[in-house]
Amino acid sequence: MDVQNELEKMGLKLGEVEKYIEDMGYFKGKADAVVLAKSTEDVARVVKFANEREIPIIPWGRGTSVTGAVTPIKGGIIIDLSSMNRIIDFSDEDWIVHVEAGAILDEINAFLRPRGFFFPPDPASSFMCSIGGATSEGSGGMHCVKYGTMKDWVLAMKVVLPDGSTVTVGEPLHKNRVGYDLTHLMIGSEGTLGVITEVWLKVVPIPGYKIKRVLTFFDSEEDIGRTIINLRKNRVQPEIAEYMDLKVLEAVKSSFNIETHGVGALLIDVPEFEIEKLNLSLSNPSFVKVADSEEEKEELYKARSYAYLAVKTLAKYAMSEDVVVPISKLPKVFKKVRELEEKYGMKCPMVGHIGDGNLHPIILYDDASKDRAESFFRELCIYVIDEGGSVTGEHGVGIQKREMAIRQIEEHNGRPLLDLMKEIKLVFDKKKIMNPYKQVV
Ligand SMILES: Cc1cc2nc3c(=O)[nH]c(=O)nc-3n(C[C@H](O)[C@H](O)[C@H](O)COP(=O)(O)OP(=O)(O)OC[C@H]3O[C@@H](n4cnc5c(N)ncnc54)[C@H](O)[C@@H]3O)c2cc1C
Repeated sequence: MDVQNELEKMGLKLGEVEKYIEDMGYFKGKADAVVLAKSTEDVARVVKFANEREIPIIPWGRGTSVTGAVTPIKGGIIIDLSSMNRIIDFSDEDWIVHVEAGAILDEINAFLRPRGFFFPPDPASSFMCSIGGATSEGSGGMHCVKYGTMKDWVLAMKVVLPDGSTVTVGEPLHKNRVGYDLTHLMIGSEGTLGVITEVWLKVVPIPGYKIKRVLTFFDSEEDIGRTIINLRKNRVQPEIAEYMDLKVLEAVKSSFNIETHGVGALLIDVPEFEIEKLNLSLSNPSFVKVADSEEEKEELYKARSYAYLAVKTLAKYAMSEDVVVPISKLPKVFKKVRELEEKYGMKCPMVGHIGDGNLHPIILYDDASKDRAESFFRELCIYVIDEGGSVTGEHGVGIQKREMAIRQIEEHNGRPLLDLMKEIKLVFDKKKIMNPYKQVV
């Protein structure tokens, strides 16, 4: 069957398949067609068509996945939701914004800011990723150390289920205890349970207090880990707490006015009234730079946001880990990453939302060193699982972490939980058409 032809006959607009088959983590696949959806009805028609013919469906937000989550493995129809990007409604009484799934996060915030509000989860890709993609990935970001991740901000969503029917999951209410919590089941499900077409988000007023942005350099990663532990002991709640090592700082330096000292730096925002406690928490800082102006603050924030893209230019390929460990174990994990760097003879620049214990060691490799990079990746995942951590804090499982995520569930939660997840998948999607071979199902 000529799938493209059939979809065209249904009056649907199609895209160029070649533009969609590789995500930003270099995971490449193949697809039969791309539908440029304009409405929930378009999505429902495509899903129904696919369900009847058992054709895979891959929801596509903006394609910034770095794990292969959005890569079609066995062909099928990609549904591109990027044209469904309207802000449908906003209430400064309810503090809720209702948007279409293709809306870009920064554009939602550009709408909210003049109204005195903001939507906190801010993945470093917020200038290009969609709210539907971020919801499906359960994404995090810089402000999540204080405000939490997508799971803490999505109240409800409109979803096209795998049989083509449309439902609203959850309620646009700040409290709701009716039925099982399927909203949280959908968040982080990576397009394996349905296609999200609209989302209702909580928003909050922009804080009224002044925030200080401080870039502090250190001569050892032990001191960097120690500083985060000290912040916790001193009961300081940072607004952001980010790490960039020297290789990352050097990479972003060509595009941003940023200094480099020591082995790396912490970028920390605290309310002005907490600055003394922040200073007390710094463990042997070698250089401290307080941003003097709003422009300088913005420059430092952007430098951190662009870190992954800057690091990607340093080698043919970059493989990003996304490990999370208890904060108390940060110094040990730093040491492990550097040991593995040495063992495998590979460069591994590191960034991370360190305030959450979430690190992104980015393994640089080329065609000749791909196997070594994968062994490095695997060994770090196994180490982190054994230390009681997680192999992904926000990037999701995708294809990249399937094996390791299954191992984590088996070791931490038990095989019956994994079986239950597989059964849940079948309840939603009997024919297994939704984004097959992703996540752990
Ligand atoms: C430079 C860079 C920095 C990044 N920084 C971060 C970061 O700080 N934190 C973080 O969490 N992630 C980060 N990421 C990863 C990625 O950007 C995020 O996970 C992002 O939220 C994905 O959004 P997207 O719209 O591009 O989704 P896509 O890549 O298009 O899709 C991601 C997944 O969601 C599914 N999906 C997409 N839209 C829908 C929908 N409407 N309904 C159902 N399923 C859907 C897809 O099928 C896929 O499984 C980064 C990526 C890059 C390239």
